[in-house]
Amino acid sequence: MTWKAVIFLLWGAAAVCQAASIESDMADSIVDRAAYSGRALLPDFTAGPCEANPRSLDQVKGNLYRHTTGAGLAVHSGLVLITGEGALVIDPAMSCTAGWLRDEIARRFHVGVTYVVYTHAHADHISGAQILQQSGAIVIANRRALEPILGEKIPTAIPDRLFDQDLKIVLGGEQVLLHRVAPSHSDSMTMVLFPGYKALQCTDVCESGTMPYNDFLDFYYDGWIETLDWVSRQDVEIVDVGHYHPATKADEAALRDYMVDLHQQVLDLVRSGQSWDQLYRNVRFSDEVRRWIGFDTMHTLNTLGMYRWVSNHRRGEW
Ligand SMILES: [Zn+2]
Repeated sequence: MTWKAVIFLLWGAAAVCQAASIESDMADSIVDRAAYSGRALLPDFTAGPCEANPRSLDQVKGNLYRHTTGAGLAVHSGLVLITGEGALVIDPAMSCTAGWLRDEIARRFHVGVTYVVYTHAHADHISGAQILQQSGAIVIANRRALEPILGEKIPTAIPDRLFDQDLKIVLGGEQVLLHRVAPSHSDSMTMVLFPGYKALQCTDVCESGTMPYNDFLDFYYDGWIETLDWVSRQDVEIVDVGHYHPATKADEAALRDYMVDLHQQVLDLVRSGQSWDQLYRNVRFSDEVRRWIGFDTMHTLNTLGMYRWVSNHRRGEW
């Protein structure tokens, strides 16, 4: 065998080792998308013309990038892994910028989008995936995301592949780990770990010096705390929260303190017999929380969400 043949064989073996692959923990992980053709869809609120909409694709570290769409507090984001075998995009977020993201990846890196990962089944994060799927991307989600996508008539891509608890992707020799966490912000949450970069996608359950949104839409308190505890155990330095700017584990520890404190205060006030009209005036916020982005508009709504949760999870005296 000539040295050229040896090199060719080694190159071939390396290419085989690095071939893009998905390992789902579900035996029947492939979705028959044809079964859902013609399904009912709501109008796509992210599809309107948005030439002036800010958008970006910036390097985080090495081959790891972060895309954003939208301005100011309305910014949505997701991590993007660029490899020689194609890109992996988390949550395209808007139909009106998904085509730009696909073209930007092609223009700068000369690859297509191989995989799209959904963090959870909410339209403001997963819209636009249909554009990437039509261009050949494989869309991956937790199995619990399929029902709300259908039931809520979300006008995005039906996932191609599902998983139950864990799914591993190898792309360009790099590992991406998808993990289901407890119901927290929806029952379809997927955490996405990039071990080679100590980076985590923790959309909407994690915050970055920002208040959780509104009245906690699609909220499960216990699972939220469980998820933040899971985040605290991960070896990560960068946490993309799907909005604003990337965070650290210290930000998530502060968020956990806030959530536990808010829950305890609301529970104590309800147990003392206060009505909503009394209660929301008596919740106290720390100086740190008062400095978080969105405090003025969100703190009473956060209290309302917690009041609903507490009211639905106690029996009272009789
Ligand atoms: Zn959400």
